[in-house]
Amino acid sequence: MNDERYQVIIIGAGIGGLVSGCLLALAKKKVLIVEKNDVPGGYCTSFKQFGLHFDTCAHSLGDLSKQGKLFAILNKIGVLEKVKRVRYDPGDIIVTEDFEVCFNNSLDKTIRNLSSIFPKEKEAISAFFKNIVCRQDFVQAMQLHKQTFSMLLDDYFVDLRLKKILGLFPLGNLGTPANHVSAFIAVKHFKQFIVDGGYYLSRGMDDLPRALMRRFTALGGKLSFGSEVASVKCRNNTAVGIILRNGREFSADFIISACDLKSVFMRMLTDLKTRKRAKNIIREMQPSLSLFVAHVVLKKKLCNSYSPGTNVWRLRNYEYDRVHKRQINYSDMSVGWIMLRIGIRKKTVTLFTNAPYRGSSFWRRNRVDFFSRILKLASDVVPGIDNNVKSVQLLTPFGLNKMTGNYNGAGYGWASTPNQSFVADLLSDGVAKNLFLSGHWGSVAQGIPGVAIAGERVSRIILARMKNVKI
Ligand SMILES: Cc1cc2nc3c(=O)[nH]c(=O)nc-3n(C[C@H](O)[C@H](O)[C@H](O)COP(=O)(O)OP(=O)(O)OC[C@H]3O[C@@H](n4cnc5c(N)ncnc54)[C@H](O)[C@@H]3O)c2cc1C
Repeated sequence: MNDERYQVIIIGAGIGGLVSGCLLALAKKKVLIVEKNDVPGGYCTSFKQFGLHFDTCAHSLGDLSKQGKLFAILNKIGVLEKVKRVRYDPGDIIVTEDFEVCFNNSLDKTIRNLSSIFPKEKEAISAFFKNIVCRQDFVQAMQLHKQTFSMLLDDYFVDLRLKKILGLFPLGNLGTPANHVSAFIAVKHFKQFIVDGGYYLSRGMDDLPRALMRRFTALGGKLSFGSEVASVKCRNNTAVGIILRNGREFSADFIISACDLKSVFMRMLTDLKTRKRAKNIIREMQPSLSLFVAHVVLKKKLCNSYSPGTNVWRLRNYEYDRVHKRQINYSDMSVGWIMLRIGIRKKTVTLFTNAPYRGSSFWRRNRVDFFSRILKLASDVVPGIDNNVKSVQLLTPFGLNKMTGNYNGAGYGWASTPNQSFVADLLSDGVAKNLFLSGHWGSVAQGIPGVAIAGERVSRIILARMKNVKI
């Protein structure tokens, strides 16, 4: 079985890798996906505890209306009807020390909600959503690419509290604070997750990777689990195959890296002359922030609380975004914000916040304390939750890294800063010919819609290359 040959080999069966794999298999190409874990999905998996369902990391979807790109991609692959979608309304609620605001499925309603709290900003709120978030034109996109989201918010709004609540979404959902995140990416995120957000998979998020996996294999694709790639074989600076940790080798015309990029360029590409340039570029690049996740089984079912499914955000105060800086410098481990989701049966709660990457011994010592800080903030929105914990599973940045290999447990690949917007494009097929990048390290458009779009794009490029067509 040594040196099996494929047209395309994909490293990683996360959503990015699976989408690329399905689209290439749909075009009748001979494709192999190799995955180090025993299940597909990467960050998009689920598990059960006491018979109760939890989504491990990714839990909500955007961009799934009929106009959404994720909708179009899943439809093209033929899995849209295989996953059971539901939409919750409101998708998000932000609770601060002095108000609570809902982000509803109806944009007009969201604009009214925000305007009733910030009446002086009424016109600016409407203009922000209607002229910026919902508009898609090239000139505007180019302008937004150059600035941060904070700059854009400063152009539109005066009230600091309004700017802070809008700035929470890129921090929580993209792992990049408003004063660093590219305005283009943040606006895109608002469109996908706030205007067209609130979608969930009622059987759990693992419904999606499983549906993609089934489709991929039905189309003749081969998926190999428990197969960790140790290196990418190169000849004359061209990627020609992979070697697994167990020594097995596979050859291909094209390789797609749909996993952590630092590992690929720093560890896996050993025999490549141009690697030095890539190493220098990657050394300078910043990953997105990591997260700390607590999956809680409750002793007693919640009554009179927020609706299950909705993302409920609680800010400690309006300075929440300074906390992560202190965390990165390891000078303070306080919690600036949490996001809480009540499970459908109201017997579970999942809590999220940003946390810095540190090793296993640090988190062994500190994770219980960090959890109690999160729980304290959660008890502001769900009173009594701190005395209602039956069991908890904690997922630290170290755990995220172990699970998926993502550098520093980064939640969303590269930080979506203006400077980093196009760097991944330079590395794709540029450093090692025929080595393409997919997933959240292969572009800065993140989350499940972002990696699906990246996966679709790379498959299109490879198919065109196979036909020798320039795109
Ligand atoms: C806590 C958390 C919550 C999130 N919530 C949301 C959300 O609600 N909605 C949303 O849209 N996004 C969310 N995201 C982001 C989203 O989950 C990711 O951006 C997306 O799933 C990344 O997909 P991917 O395919 O690029 O990579 P990954 O999911 O990281 O998959 C990479 C795969 O490659 C495999 N791999 C790694 N190294 C190797 C190797 N050497 N050999 C073989 N296989 C390898 C890994 O095991 C993994 O399966 C969240 C992320 C986190 C961490």
